[in-house]
Amino acid sequence: MRKDLKELEVWFVTGSQHLYGEETLKQVDRDSREIAAALDRSGDIPVRVVFKPVVISPEAIHTICQQANTTGNCIGLITWMHTFSPAKMWIAGLKSLSKPFVHLHTQFNRDIPWDSIDMDFMNLNQSAHGGREFGFIGSRLRIERKVVVGHWATPMVQQKLGTWLRAAAAWHRWQGGRVARFGDNMREVAVTEGNKVSAQIQFGYSVSGYGVGDLVERINAVAESDINALMEQYEAEYEVAPEARKGGALRDTLKEAARMEKGMRNFLEEGGFSAFTTTFEDLHGLTQLPGLAVQRLMADGYGFGAEGDWKTAALVWAMKVMATGLKGGTSFMEDYTYHLHPDGMKVLGAHMLEVCPSISHGKTRLEVHPLGIGGKSDPARLVFDVASGPGVNASIMDMGNRFRLLVNPCDVVPADAPLPKLPVARVVWQPHPNLEVAAGAWILSGGAHHTGFSMAVTKEHLEDFSEMAGIEYVLIDQDTSIAAIKKELRWNELYYHLAKGL
Ligand code: MN
Repeated sequence: MRKDLKELEVWFVTGSQHLYGEETLKQVDRDSREIAAALDRSGDIPVRVVFKPVVISPEAIHTICQQANTTGNCIGLITWMHTFSPAKMWIAGLKSLSKPFVHLHTQFNRDIPWDSIDMDFMNLNQSAHGGREFGFIGSRLRIERKVVVGHWATPMVQQKLGTWLRAAAAWHRWQGGRVARFGDNMREVAVTEGNKVSAQIQFGYSVSGYGVGDLVERINAVAESDINALMEQYEAEYEVAPEARKGGALRDTLKEAARMEKGMRNFLEEGGFSAFTTTFEDLHGLTQLPGLAVQRLMADGYGFGAEGDWKTAALVWAMKVMATGLKGGTSFMEDYTYHLHPDGMKVLGAHMLEVCPSISHGKTRLEVHPLGIGGKSDPARLVFDVASGPGVNASIMDMGNRFRLLVNPCDVVPADAPLPKLPVARVVWQPHPNLEVAAGAWILSGGAHHTGFSMAVTKEHLEDFSEMAGIEYVLIDQDTSIAAIKKELRWNELYYHLAKGL
């Protein structure tokens, strides 16, 4: 898996027109180069920013959009109107653009030079109305996009661009991306189902099913030397439980887990997959439910969904791309059990085994315990706690006529006491605005029990992402009330029914 986003680029495209003459256009060009270079250097911008010559005609705009479409590592455009750029010139280009763009509404100078300002200055620095003309055509064309307002050199503006670019990078990776499913859905479960053809049309990734036997074949082919190398890594990275150490009674069980990890990794690498699912109802030929293997693959950037949940697997993958290089981890998650004490209701999140150690805080223990489900031998798993801080849960559901992205920020808090008898990774959080409203709104929104959980990604990344994907975005946060969200959901039903005609 790729560990940074610097092989990707965004194009910095400045709009203008012929009217102003050579000298002004040269100045526009110089200013645009300076802004593009500053953004390229910014620590808040995760991809390369590539300056493109100022566009002053419909032909030039159309050409640059076509080039963006066919340039493999270009994830989208940052557009800026230094001067006025009559927006009928942008119609053909924007209609043909198949990648997202963000509208940077800034101007080169931060301050008005009160003492020296004259009409030449005014004519050079027209973003205030040039950006509005450009904005109109985006709205007239009904193109979803982000508008970032403020001076380009300020951290706030660069951070907002950086957030959008992280979402755009994830969106870029989804196009042509591949999700592998080992076995099908957990029988009778509804929310993890969905239309894979609709998803490929909407999202760009494909979902391919495999018999678990295909995976078992790869696992059985793993060399002993590879297993031994992994066992050494485990010893180095984790606090391994005594019974799983050399000579311990569960040593062989851990060796089977290592064999499984290597076999799964080989399968995913050779098939070019970036996310995958398993299901405990289909483990034929596997000695144990893959726990440790899934956890370690997630830590390396793979998306994962349990019980055949390919939508969550793809979402976790996208969130991991967004989080590249940021502090805080990202994991597959499930709202497992509640603490309903009136002094502070909270959620304990976990799964049977498959929580990503990228969110681990403190000691990560490698343990082997029985599992009361699946009827297999005792699986190995990493057990850990998660540090306090802001987090977010997100879920994508197939609502029949559209996909919905549901997002709920939370505060990760310590457990009230140590959990000595709980042999799984776990995280405790208080959802915004509180559990009563958050869980009520989540359920009314049809939100899944599986989520992508992150302490690096924010609601802003996910909102930007939903706009690129062209799907419904429902946010549950400090401003949410049950009455308001009921109305929002009803209005959205109408919007998404009617919007196809706009
Ligand atoms: Mn589950």
